[in-house]
Amino acid sequence: MSDNLFDILARGIPDPAATAIETLSGERISYGDLIARTGRMANALASLGVQPGNRVAAQVEKSVQAIILYLATVRAGAVFLPLNTGYTPAEIEYFVGDAAPAIFVCDPAKADQLAPVAGNARLLTLGADGQGSLTDAATNAPEDFATVPRASDDLAALLYTSGTTGRSKGAMLTHGNLVSNTLALREAWEYTASDVLIHALPIFHTHGLFVATNVTLFSGASMIFLPKFDVDRIFEGMSRATVLMGVPTFYTRLLQDDMLNAETTAGIRLFISGSAPLLADTHREWRARTGHAILERYGMTETNMNASNPYRGDRVAGTVGMPLPGVEIIVTDPETGAELPKGEIGMIEVRGPNVFSGYWQMPEKTAAELRENGFFITGDLGRFDERGYLHIVGRGKDLIITGGYNVYPKEIETEIDALPGVTESAVIGLPHRDFGEGVTAVIVGSTPPSEAEVLAALEDRLARFKLPKRVLFIDDLPRNTMGKVQKNLLRDQFRELYD
Ligand code: ATP
Ligand code: MG
Repeated sequence: MSDNLFDILARGIPDPAATAIETLSGERISYGDLIARTGRMANALASLGVQPGNRVAAQVEKSVQAIILYLATVRAGAVFLPLNTGYTPAEIEYFVGDAAPAIFVCDPAKADQLAPVAGNARLLTLGADGQGSLTDAATNAPEDFATVPRASDDLAALLYTSGTTGRSKGAMLTHGNLVSNTLALREAWEYTASDVLIHALPIFHTHGLFVATNVTLFSGASMIFLPKFDVDRIFEGMSRATVLMGVPTFYTRLLQDDMLNAETTAGIRLFISGSAPLLADTHREWRARTGHAILERYGMTETNMNASNPYRGDRVAGTVGMPLPGVEIIVTDPETGAELPKGEIGMIEVRGPNVFSGYWQMPEKTAAELRENGFFITGDLGRFDERGYLHIVGRGKDLIITGGYNVYPKEIETEIDALPGVTESAVIGLPHRDFGEGVTAVIVGSTPPSEAEVLAALEDRLARFKLPKRVLFIDDLPRNTMGKVQKNLLRDQFRELYD
């Protein structure tokens, strides 16, 4: 028996007649349909020349057919490479050049623009409506397809990181990585065939593609497949769904709607948040309005999911819970790599069957971040508390070193966010002649306090070296499509503040 993710998925399907995916237009795709459609697509890929191990790149809008493409690629023994729909042709040129896929699938409307950057890849199209030359190639293909046997350490996907801290890196993910993490999450979140997920995330990222889709399909559950986040559609779905997975902005936006209350959310058994830190305030407000404690979990492109708040037990606001079954997490001294005692802040490192096999064509970066003992150096700083919950205090790259002292932005942001009139804040380090970096607060709020008021409020609460040297106000924090605050853009924007 092969370790191909698709084989394991197909073997576990409890009922081929059960609905796997339901779309806004009312289309229902059963598990049986899903298998048949991936068979046709896998045959189409093979006849287009895709060989086992080849990359299949896709920059396509969210659609059921895009999910079929993902599953069919894996089924054909090839490597799925989804690309953010926001990438420009110049960016696509980099990714396609780097990954050298056998085929590149894009939106029909962008085909003319992208043809010149497709390199040696064969260009096919797939639109949001599921139509295009790729679908044409699959329509008349036979549905029987012998899934290509794969070992657990063969590649299933090449997923580029979000590029929050620099240029995106291609993380090589194996069949074993994806399957082990799916099973760990299914167990941790007690997912079953009766679950119905509201799927409103993009599918070019770990969260929407693997966490949401794989966990649902491996449970024989179903998903209400929304093209994008839409408050009204989410409320509609809540009457039938049991689970919602979202990035923190889903929750802050739903909180702004009067429809949100204990009644409208009564059928949901689990609200999950990840991809970026959920403000403790959001967690508390959500609980007060709906009675539900949002379950926050922590993961990344390179490792899938690492830690989760418990399904049964306290879901603690501002923490990401405990390591998932089979995953080890340690906190180490960033300088020496030595493991630190509980309670101390340091570098989060992760080891387990979920950890990727390296960065695509970046042996030096792989060697620098993936230790020989199997631990991956995540780049995130955190600490374990007395009860074993992991707290993330920010990214190593966002750590501010001012006058020789380490300042963790999260601590200051938490103080600022608690001030009246403040919606959220980002604390960054900017080049400073005397201090190396100057602690700088950037605040968003409807009626924010003045700079002097902020400083006065923080004075008694924070050590002097942690106090912002300047407080700036802006309308919105820059975020990428996953809702991650892009501190590098803020640092660029205000680079000359202390000149
Ligand atoms: P790049 O590595 O290219 O700079 P990125 O790290 O943002 O981009 P992803 O792999 O998409 O790319 O994101 C993983 C990161 O997201 C984690 O390393 C962590 O910093 C952050 N993250 C994910 N979940 C959480 C969470 N629950 N709380 C805080 N941070 C989180
Ligand atoms: Mg990263």
